[in-house]
Amino acid sequence: MLSRELVQPNSIAVIGGSNNLHKPGGKILQNLLEGNFSGEIYVVNPREKSVQGIKCHPDVGSLPEIDLAILAIAARFCLETIEVLARNKGCKGFIILSAGFAEEGEEGRILEQKITEVVNSVRGSLIGPNCIGVINPVYQGVFTSPIPKLDPRGCDFISGSGATAVFIMEAGIPNGLTFSSVYSVGNSAQTGVEDVLAHLDECFDPESSSRVILLYLETIEKPGLLLKHALSLHRKGCKIAAIKSGITEAGSRAASSHTGALATPDAAVDALMAKAGIIRCSSREELVAVASVFQHRELEGKRMAVITHAGGPAVMLCDVLSVGGMEVPAIDGPKAEELLEKLYPGSSVANPIDILATGTAEQLGTVIDYCEKEFEEIDGMIVIFGTPGLFPVNDVYRTLDGKMKSCRKPIYPVLPSIVNAREEIEEFISLGRINFPDEVRLGRAISKVYNSPFMKVREKAPKLVSVIKIREVIDEVLKRCTDGYLGPGPVQELLDAAGIPRTREAVVNTKADAVIKSEELGFPLVLKVVGPVHKSDVAGVVLNITSPERVAEEFERMIQIPNTVAILIQPMLSGMELFSGAKREGKFGHLVLCGMGGIFVEAMRDVQGGLAPLTLEEALGMIRQLKSYAIIEGIRGEEGVDEHAWADILLRVSQLVETAPEIAEMDLNPLLGKKDVIMAVDARIRIETR
Ligand code: ADP
Ligand code: MG
Repeated sequence: MLSRELVQPNSIAVIGGSNNLHKPGGKILQNLLEGNFSGEIYVVNPREKSVQGIKCHPDVGSLPEIDLAILAIAARFCLETIEVLARNKGCKGFIILSAGFAEEGEEGRILEQKITEVVNSVRGSLIGPNCIGVINPVYQGVFTSPIPKLDPRGCDFISGSGATAVFIMEAGIPNGLTFSSVYSVGNSAQTGVEDVLAHLDECFDPESSSRVILLYLETIEKPGLLLKHALSLHRKGCKIAAIKSGITEAGSRAASSHTGALATPDAAVDALMAKAGIIRCSSREELVAVASVFQHRELEGKRMAVITHAGGPAVMLCDVLSVGGMEVPAIDGPKAEELLEKLYPGSSVANPIDILATGTAEQLGTVIDYCEKEFEEIDGMIVIFGTPGLFPVNDVYRTLDGKMKSCRKPIYPVLPSIVNAREEIEEFISLGRINFPDEVRLGRAISKVYNSPFMKVREKAPKLVSVIKIREVIDEVLKRCTDGYLGPGPVQELLDAAGIPRTREAVVNTKADAVIKSEELGFPLVLKVVGPVHKSDVAGVVLNITSPERVAEEFERMIQIPNTVAILIQPMLSGMELFSGAKREGKFGHLVLCGMGGIFVEAMRDVQGGLAPLTLEEALGMIRQLKSYAIIEGIRGEEGVDEHAWADILLRVSQLVETAPEIAEMDLNPLLGKKDVIMAVDARIRIETR
């Protein structure tokens, strides 16, 4: 938790406060003085008598006790300054704006570490270094502009980059997006984005806390912490959206299994975000749009009414909504007729509802009332209303504001005339409203928010695997201490302990034994080499063998393939080729994957991932999000696959790797699936103990 002194200081000292408003030390002091901080402000500057009307202290030693120190001095002076403040001045809140630390190299990193140790020793909180500062309801401690309008219901925004934080605020403020706090964590020497999120969770107050949280992340150092607090905040009614830029390092290691290659570096981040219920955005504009949607009433269904006086934007909006899985249902019946009577001739109420260029504020109000009260087929409204500039539209926007207050169904305003109706839009925003200037961006954001499954309660899956048996097998393997691929024996034992169905099979070392085992298993059969990792690549898989003679022949050929230590015999099965697997992703834990086998994986990369431990919902969700899901369901008379059986296998894979974290990669490829059963015919498991 962040210290009280950082979050709610009674006194603030700006070290390096300046008269020059073009310097961080000058601008931050100005922002503090012009803001609403009501405690004492001190300035330390050896070269000035007074700065911006405040008497200067020549050094930190001459300061009284203070809560929060903001450092705008060269990096090399920061350590000694913080030592004095922490040890002698009771200071427990520190913000270091200065650059020249870890971002510049090893020396800077060590300096940062020493400073962190000092701050930790007094149980203080440190934000930065190399950041723009902090804005919250108590003080506005940043050296940048703009300072957003502070609103307790606005967004809490935590950013790993100061400059990006500014640009995101700049993107949101003109449209009316408000903020309740902004934390820029810079190099995160002590406090990272995840830690501030934890703080927001721990201090959450149902009366006063914001329900919308935005994150800009460049790295995720503590995925576990992020997951825990994001879920906890969800349960408290918060909505979270994030941009995560860059790719994880964990995933960039070379991977030799199929799953390994498919688990793209970013897949773990996607999976973490999905699991944490965080809506992942890929641009500032998208983040702002999603945050703005969050600030409206929640949609309880996906059926939208598009209300407009201009055809073009309405059509674009309908397109993007339907691509996004929303609906714009036709509106008809007696109530629709009744509404049409109240509009000018030529209007349409079919949805989009078009009240024509001559439509009035009163008509707009009537349409909204019908959508709210009479049209049960509608869950939410989008109103597109601009102006060609002939007359003002204040009355329209005031009506809109009034209806947004009184209606239970959400209403999203698209006011595109940011030039012609600049003043009217400003007035609308001053009423606490948010404008979506672009209907397509809004349509995408609504779809994204509505379709994210994060509101659903997640039930932990019951234990399906035999933990004791799995540990026995792994511990036995570890005694021989061999990192690398497991042989068929341990692989079979692990699959059995996890309850993952696999085909019957026999491993043989002699031709005679091969023939005997073939008769036992029954024809047709499949022969495979044991030893080579990718068997087909070395002609080490022969399908559909129908006689003992062919078994003998193939045995003789295959046993000579390099690295082959034995031959595996299986019955020849039929079914749809699927694959499942798991890959360890550093601090993220294991990413479990699923997809259709064969060309679907190779050519279409049709793969879904989820972080272990999976819940049943997550496992089913992964399968249903596959592009080829229609084939799994069964298409055009073709038999499909039992998705519950597959989800069950995914849960078992998840629990297997959770029980045996030594598994770095595993692959069930293929699983052969039918309407009633799914079975693994090929499995690889790679152990890595590090
Ligand atoms: P590898 O992946 O090492 O090349 P597999 O054991 O996966 O070897 O076999 C290659 C392909 O042969 C599989 O993808 C599948 O299409 C087919 N196959 C393997 N075993 C069977 C089996 N028991 N029944 C039917 N087809 C099989
Ligand atoms: Mg295979």
